[in-house]
Amino acid sequence: MEKLYSPATVNKIRNRYGLKLSKSLGQNFLIDGNIVNAIIEAAGIDEDDLVIEIGPGIGVLTEAAAKKAHRVIGIEIDQKLIAILDETLKDYDNIKIINQDFMKTDLLSLIDENRLSAESVKIIGNLPYYITTPIIMKILEGQALSEIESITIMLQKEVADRIKASSGSKIYGALSIAVQYYCEVENIIKVPKDVFIPKPKVDSSVIKLSPRSEAPVNVVDKGVFFNLVKAAFGQRRKTLQNALSGIYDLSKEDVTKALLKACIDPKRRAETLDIKEFAALANAVSQGIKDNEDME
Ligand code: SAM
Repeated sequence: MEKLYSPATVNKIRNRYGLKLSKSLGQNFLIDGNIVNAIIEAAGIDEDDLVIEIGPGIGVLTEAAAKKAHRVIGIEIDQKLIAILDETLKDYDNIKIINQDFMKTDLLSLIDENRLSAESVKIIGNLPYYITTPIIMKILEGQALSEIESITIMLQKEVADRIKASSGSKIYGALSIAVQYYCEVENIIKVPKDVFIPKPKVDSSVIKLSPRSEAPVNVVDKGVFFNLVKAAFGQRRKTLQNALSGIYDLSKEDVTKALLKACIDPKRRAETLDIKEFAALANAVSQGIKDNEDME
């Protein structure tokens, strides 16, 4: 058979199986061997790895990963693709395909039940665009994160840019802080629209996320930190003293006090604060909440 990633193979499979690619499931299949290799290279897959792939499609990345990894588990939501994957990957005995929604997958149990003790877990995927951010946040906020060595994913370039953004930039926001809190972020490669069937409307990027062994900042209460970040960026045009007033029942005066305690000018806006300043502010807010509770 021709290479799995060749347009001819994708079209043959579509004809043979009468496969209609589903826009709503984000089915844009990769047809460029160089990009396949770039993803596998960046993931640094070797014979000690258990690779978990999100959305194998017809198996282009799955096959390339299986050539290097100890084992690969692909989680594919679309039942129609399962018989196709059985055929395209039939020569590999180190691949297991699970027909399941990744959002409903218990990642920790999956790893516990499948990982051999010497294996490292690496996640890869050409993510379905309709659900990119929920997939990333599910992995980062889930209990399995400490078991995962890296997450190498293709996603819309615009989302990748937001993830990588630093303070002061217009695209810096809650997503940048959330991902950078949990992971080191590495930019791998920009991917043009024309290496997919069908061609998506936007360009893509491949990034690699490496979960941190220690958080980059000390926060007393992670819940307060993330709520604060969300609230601050939820009204990013407002000054912080206005955007945050009312949070945890804190008055504007309480919020101003917390901002000053964290050495932040109350008239600044969310996009000017780096992650350290957000942490200092969250800790001052946590103290403010505690003071209010003590007074009740
Ligand atoms: N990996 C293939 C490639 O690069 O050609 C396919 C990538 S395509 C962008 C996304 C794949 O994810 C599709 O096969 C789609 O059916 C699958 N998918 C969509 N939503 C999913 C979900 N919630 N859980 C698991 N797979 C999903």
